[in-house]
Amino acid sequence: MPNSAATFAVTVPSTVSLPIIGSAKRFPVGRIFCVGRNYAEHAREMGGDPTREPPFFFMKPPSALVADGMDVPYPTQSADVEHELEVVVAIGVGGAHITVDRALEHVYGYAVGVDLTCRDLQGQAKKAGRPWETSKAFDHSAPCSAVTRASEIGHPSSGPLELRINGSLRQRGDIGQMIWNVPEIIAHLSEYFALQPGDLIFTGTPAGVGPVKIGDRLDLIAPTIGELSFNIVAPNHGPEDQT
Ligand code: MN
Repeated sequence: MPNSAATFAVTVPSTVSLPIIGSAKRFPVGRIFCVGRNYAEHAREMGGDPTREPPFFFMKPPSALVADGMDVPYPTQSADVEHELEVVVAIGVGGAHITVDRALEHVYGYAVGVDLTCRDLQGQAKKAGRPWETSKAFDHSAPCSAVTRASEIGHPSSGPLELRINGSLRQRGDIGQMIWNVPEIIAHLSEYFALQPGDLIFTGTPAGVGPVKIGDRLDLIAPTIGELSFNIVAPNHGPEDQT
């Protein structure tokens, strides 16, 4: 039944979105996919083996999205939140079983984001063989810049990425260091999920992950792709809005 004919019993979830550089329109965000261990040096720093094993994926809900300039409250259930600086791919055209050579036709644009991770909860989950959601998909876990259109910048296969905390350089990498590049990620991911317009893909972090704390200001710079800044603020302990 088309939604226009339906009436709903509770408040309809709102569509979250990102601004688009140079456009009055916004990019609506559906799902947020994330790639694990996609840079060799980061795989090593996490105790892994940086070989080209097939990429693995996890997800964050769209409610995790935080737009540029919005505050990120420190999650109440963790004492070890880390930053992971990542290139974000914005899907404009859906599809399943996408081939590597056609993959970039599905990309609307690019952004930079942070895959905020509760490293303590993730460690417990890994040890217990449990899912990662509480460590990866919590509220405010996906700060992301505005989207820059591929029609403006093309599809960058190299270029520096930087994350600064309170002005000092904390994480640096290059898009060209990915183990699996963007077309390969899209090809693999689309074997498991039919991609849809509005999907975001966080493409993994270079080495140099580290802790954030309340009061920190994070600045991400990826020339050509974009910039993102936000502050880590005190946790929200009380009941949030009832909607
Ligand atoms: Mn990550």
